[in-house]
Amino acid sequence: MRVRVAINGYGTIGKRVADAVAKQPDMEVVGVVKTRPSFEAERAAQMGFPLFVGGDGTAADFDAAGLRVAGTVADLLGKSDVVVDATPDKVGKENRKLYEAANVRAIFQGGEKADVAEVSFNALGNFAAAKGKRRVRVVSCNTTGISRAVAVLLPRWGVDRWDVTLVRRAADPAESKKGPINGIVPTFQLPSHHGPDVKTIFPGLPIFTTAVVVPTTLMHVHVNRVRLHTAPKDAGELLAAFRASPRFRLFAPWEHVDGTPQVMEFARGRGLGSGDMFENALWQDGVGLDGADAFFFQAIHQESITVPENIDAIRAMFELAPDGPASIAMTDRALGLRA
Ligand code: NAD
Repeated sequence: MRVRVAINGYGTIGKRVADAVAKQPDMEVVGVVKTRPSFEAERAAQMGFPLFVGGDGTAADFDAAGLRVAGTVADLLGKSDVVVDATPDKVGKENRKLYEAANVRAIFQGGEKADVAEVSFNALGNFAAAKGKRRVRVVSCNTTGISRAVAVLLPRWGVDRWDVTLVRRAADPAESKKGPINGIVPTFQLPSHHGPDVKTIFPGLPIFTTAVVVPTTLMHVHVNRVRLHTAPKDAGELLAAFRASPRFRLFAPWEHVDGTPQVMEFARGRGLGSGDMFENALWQDGVGLDGADAFFFQAIHQESITVPENIDAIRAMFELAPDGPASIAMTDRALGLRA
């Protein structure tokens, strides 16, 4: 029996999650929800995903555009085991009432507050915490990227203090109404919301985050300084630890990946997902050690990094895999990230 998955909100995250679910052997897409006809609604139809109307949308609008709808969001929930809510920030919280009324399990995204769900989730960080749960929140792109790195360093060396400055992309590539298009804008919230969010995965972690927004759409970059409890022998040990972990891609100097433009060019050429970079991207030359202080840069593709985490969240909720590593291996194989 495959888990029947509904996707409510078929935008940047929703369409990628739908594609990823369709590739898994133990789950299937029963339908996706759009509020109005668009090129994305047409894409859903072309992908063979039944289209349902949600929000304040009407079937008549879809009919007028020549797009066939299979029913309303309520109809879809009636035939689903779980809904992945990928609607804009704060809409998920409103939708929770719908999901509860339909008695269907739900996954929310990082734009919702942590209390929308029973648990916040990161596959490398706390897979077991989501086992059997009915409502799970997959943390944001930045929190996912940091949490993966914590999952690598914390168990090996311990963490006395983690400082990270997030250089955040201003908008996603398809967003034409956001900015800045010029200037660097500091976030005057100390710590930025990301630090407390990481603590929903690793309670008690001594982490402090600061953030600036810059005019780019490709990726975020994190500048990390981590005071480890025990010093690794050398930077090579750090590199080996990142290399050994799934969902990390280290670029060697000979690859000539100078920054985020080449990371995304690599991802487009590789052709996984929508030209996506599901892994944390690190540079071998950008990992250093000074005593017990570890330094590293990592780039995060905001549009896709949480996609595999949504798949693992479904597996945890339905206990389809014995543990995190088993689920991650299954997800990553299906996505083409490993042989
Ligand atoms: P998006 O705007 O690209 O997509 C949201 C989609 O939901 C749109 O197609 C919109 O029309 C649709 N929608 C709006 N109201 C709806 C309703 N009531 N019912 C059904 N559909 C509705 O947004 P996104 O970037 O995919 O973000 C979705 C969630 O994922 C947010 O919580 C966001 O914070 C989180 N997230 C976004 C990113 C990112 O960088 N884009 C990264 C990680 C997490």
